[in-house]
Amino acid sequence: MLALVKDRRGRGLSLRRVPVPGFGIDDVLVKVDQTGICGTDVHIYDWDDWAKRVIQPPLIIGHEFVGKIVDKGSNVKRFKIGDRVSGEGHIVCGRCRNCLAGRSHLCPETVSVGVNRDGAFAEYLALPADNVWRCSAKVPREIYAIFDPLGNAVHTALSFEVLGEDVLITGAGPIGIMAVTIVRQAGARHVVITDVNDYRLKLAEKMGATLAVNVKRERIDAVQKKLGMHEGFDVGLEMSGNPRALREMIANMVHGGKIAMLGIQPSKTGIDWNRIVFGGLTIKGIYGRQMYESWYKATMLIESGMDISPVITHRFAFEKFESGFAAIKAGRAGKVVLSWA
Ligand code: NAD
Ligand code: ZN
Repeated sequence: MLALVKDRRGRGLSLRRVPVPGFGIDDVLVKVDQTGICGTDVHIYDWDDWAKRVIQPPLIIGHEFVGKIVDKGSNVKRFKIGDRVSGEGHIVCGRCRNCLAGRSHLCPETVSVGVNRDGAFAEYLALPADNVWRCSAKVPREIYAIFDPLGNAVHTALSFEVLGEDVLITGAGPIGIMAVTIVRQAGARHVVITDVNDYRLKLAEKMGATLAVNVKRERIDAVQKKLGMHEGFDVGLEMSGNPRALREMIANMVHGGKIAMLGIQPSKTGIDWNRIVFGGLTIKGIYGRQMYESWYKATMLIESGMDISPVITHRFAFEKFESGFAAIKAGRAGKVVLSWA
């Protein structure tokens, strides 16, 4: 089969012919239709410090996918050949305290598809049946190619009650933009999103933001005044990974406000801890999706009318993967989907 492989320690990816993956009695074999390119894939492409530390070539990368089951192990009863599926890319141990207690999204032994084991940027993918998510016929197929980051957005955005609340989202990447739509659907009042990229801010506006603010030109406290807000944002969703964005969020929260943090900050990010202490703020770290509640909620939100399709701005055949990565790096893209059909 053909696959996008990180085959050496350095920049770039190679399209290679590799064996179709073998699979065990508890696994399924998926023929991949479409995949989404994630920031993680870009880090691996660029061979940055994180990638140098974590990635062991040769590795097939990618973890956002939709496809069809074409074969399965003898223990797999819940799925049949031909089922259209997506899948959770975090494979957990099943034995630690959190896994046993039904909190597998907090498993400390998590192994990631396309990072620690072969991934989905290939014609075929083998995955444990426990990680397979059956597609609803009521959700467009292409949306399942980005269900994984939609699940990140759902997990973060629904971490705290947003009904009637004012929500600040920092970072209008694909996940921040999807979060706008989710908190809208969940009944938020003002939804303010920030970025430094006007293309992405425009997309966020289209997805329902009250205001999409370029922090190169405008400060968030001025935005609060413009909206007639008095005490600060009730809920913050940090989705940029940028230290300045985090600090400005903390400075603009209501006393007792709640922040869910998805963005991956540099290790030395400094914040004013006294704003947390005296402001009575809660900060919750988010890793991945809540298994499998985020998958369920994402499905139901879409079945009940939420439309995230505008976040997909580019589509390419897998052979044109370089164009897909280039579109993301140019900063003029939401989600980029590769077709393997
Ligand atoms: P992305 O990199 O596409 O988006 C981040 C956005 O933040 C960009 O549009 C960038 O222009 C913007 N930004 C930069 N500086 C800013 C500032 N000062 N203020 C506001 N915005 C600013 O990423 P994404 O795919 O949308 O993911 C969002 C974040 O979540 C990233 O940091 C990513 O690494 C992280 N992530 C975490 C998990 C997890 O499990 N915790 C999973 C997926 C992604
Ligand atoms: Zn575990």
